[in-house]
Amino acid sequence: MAFGVYVHIPFCVRRCHYCDFVSFEGMGAGDKDGYVRALLSEVDLYMESMDLPAADSLYLGGGTPTCLTGAQLAALLEGLRRKLRWSPDPEWTVEANPGAVDAELLRRLRDLGVNRLSLGVQSFDPAMLRLLGRIHSARQVYEAAAQARRAGIERLSVDLMYGLPGQSLAHWETTLERALEMTAAPGHISLYELNLEPGTRMKRWYDRGLLPRTDPDMGYEQYALAIDRLAQAGYGHYEISNFAKPGYESRHNLLYWRRRPYLGAGAGASGYLNGIRYANTDDFSLYLRQVRAGEKPRASEERVTGKLAMAEMMFLGLRLRSGVSRKDFCGEFGQTPEAVYGEEIADLRGAGLLRENAEGYALTRKGLFVASDVMTRFV
Ligand code: SF4
Repeated sequence: MAFGVYVHIPFCVRRCHYCDFVSFEGMGAGDKDGYVRALLSEVDLYMESMDLPAADSLYLGGGTPTCLTGAQLAALLEGLRRKLRWSPDPEWTVEANPGAVDAELLRRLRDLGVNRLSLGVQSFDPAMLRLLGRIHSARQVYEAAAQARRAGIERLSVDLMYGLPGQSLAHWETTLERALEMTAAPGHISLYELNLEPGTRMKRWYDRGLLPRTDPDMGYEQYALAIDRLAQAGYGHYEISNFAKPGYESRHNLLYWRRRPYLGAGAGASGYLNGIRYANTDDFSLYLRQVRAGEKPRASEERVTGKLAMAEMMFLGLRLRSGVSRKDFCGEFGQTPEAVYGEEIADLRGAGLLRENAEGYALTRKGLFVASDVMTRFV
């Protein structure tokens, strides 16, 4: 069974105005050295207490993993390679901010085994980048992508944001075109609709009337435009928000949607091991103290069985355009999806939101636009 490793690096040069991820700015070299050591110690705690299978994927996310120096990344990646077992050709992804990466670091990452780079682009428009509080320019995006290619990192993914205040349909179309025109063309594109999360600077601006009100239909229109334009450009729409050229799908993210186990390490990371979903503390100091004391730094855990496991299979599986497999559902639960969710499935099919396919059930195009409402029917 596929198995992956997620490692969270909670450092950023500066906090983006919309960000509510677990990340800290202004941390010193000593904090980061100590954190890398703690990450490797946390992995040791798992190695000592359970028999982990060989991993097919590593995802270094954040935060901004490239806020670590080349030496810190080398210590971390070499440590992970040594401590864990790996399948023969694992996917190793590092998230990077185009404003916090250079050619030398990318070459070093490639030499350390990184074969996929996920660039947080968000927009190519200088005004939008300023509004979002991004630290990079459009030029730095092109440079980072080209440097990654030259370094030999073939698999490139870019994140783009829509539903931004003041972002018209034409403006969003230009964002998509800029991504598609990149000389170092990304094989994978992830779309994120802006959510103004409590506690973020942009939410405060919005509440004080300092941001233009967004047209609630604009997000739908922008999403629809992206689906059509990316299909035309040869990107398969394999998950609600993710598009890939054939063979460029994210192996690691597929683990999540297919409910495969993964080890999550780091402050604020989550994981799924031995049927238990867990979340680590997002308190940086507590994380370090607990790991140094030989304790797993978990803030919460939940065993996923029975109705919860069934619901997960439905709402995670429906994120994939291939949908939920009836065979997988019957294999794990000994019942058909219809036996458990007959009423929900009938309602959603009647409303044109769900369709039956050769494997089981998948969202219709109409269902994609109200996916979160569809998912709540199974919870
Ligand atoms: S780079 Fe990413 S994690 Fe860091 S502040 Fe910006 S959005 Fe948040």
